[in-house]
Amino acid sequence: MTYSFELGPIRPPSEAYSLLIRATRNCPWNRCKFCPTYKGEKFQLRPVEEIKQDIRTAKIIKDKIKELSWKSGYGGRVKEIASTVVNSPPNEASRNVALWLYANGESVFLQDANSLIMRTNELAEVIRFLKETFPDIKRITSYARSKTAAKKKPDELTELRQAGLSRLHIGLESGYDPLLQYMDKGGTAAEHITGGRRVVESGISLCEYVILGLGGREMWREHATQTAKVLNEIDPDFIRVRTLAINNGMLLHDEIDNGNFIRATDEKILEEERLLIEHLECHSNYVSDHITNLLYEIEGSLPQDKGKMLALIDRFQALSQEERANFRVGRRVGIYSQLDDLYNSRKHQAVEQIIHRLSQGSNQIDEKTMYRLMGRFI
Ligand code: SF4
Repeated sequence: MTYSFELGPIRPPSEAYSLLIRATRNCPWNRCKFCPTYKGEKFQLRPVEEIKQDIRTAKIIKDKIKELSWKSGYGGRVKEIASTVVNSPPNEASRNVALWLYANGESVFLQDANSLIMRTNELAEVIRFLKETFPDIKRITSYARSKTAAKKKPDELTELRQAGLSRLHIGLESGYDPLLQYMDKGGTAAEHITGGRRVVESGISLCEYVILGLGGREMWREHATQTAKVLNEIDPDFIRVRTLAINNGMLLHDEIDNGNFIRATDEKILEEERLLIEHLECHSNYVSDHITNLLYEIEGSLPQDKGKMLALIDRFQALSQEERANFRVGRRVGIYSQLDDLYNSRKHQAVEQIIHRLSQGSNQIDEKTMYRLMGRFI
């Protein structure tokens, strides 16, 4: 099992069990102030033959796992062997293939930040080759930039869908132009709408990502309302939210240091999320699947679940100040996963002890400590 292939650094949370195939390296834009992922790395297109070679290697690893299953008496069932490889992998590529097989081996994610930038015929060739190599695949997805999607002709996106591209994950981040400009996102609300609509109209499923808290204390209102407006125009299949967390690999970190950007608190960000949800008039699935989100359980199908989602925010806001602080710390240290966990006395006491320790006995946690806890997630 010494076979290996190239992997990029990230994939969306919903692709945690996908086979990862690196179609391009890094990000062709690489300037967003809030994004540390590819900083210092040069964007590169990969030759199609090189990508195909990685796919062939993934197939060899898959076949080896299957062969081991027969030899070990599991009759070709891969879960048992896959779980052994996941726990002690010879390399990251084998671990990825094993994890993928453990989860049924049905989805593939094409890395890195914007595979759509490849020539359409070359990307389609890679997708077709994937399907030929792994006929059981049911879903092939990738990240893309709105600007790139807006530049593709409708026929090109249709060609990619017909080849087998099932879904694109696009970082909308915000629909408010001054904020997009300040963050150096390299696109406008209008380009987000054009790119997003083009994907929806091609029949490729679309997932738009929003960063809660991106407007800081100054632009939070416009960030919420204008983002909702753009999402209403696009009407994507999924809206996925994650909350701004900062580390010192981000350009935004310097903006905070020099006072140009003032971060919003968790409570302000929930107010912002309320405003966003209130203004959404689309038919998307709203998903909160990121560890940085305070209320992980704000999820649902729009428009019918809007009331239920807002009610969760009401519940949090109706808590006493002390309980809100307890919940925030509990979330940020990974003890709580949902609001109801506040009523688990064992967990509650554990959080109380952490607060006592972190605050050196004062039981008051300042925002800096809260941000520091959150920064560990990225
Ligand atoms: S386009 Fe995406 S990957 Fe590239 S810098 Fe911006 S957020 Fe990061």
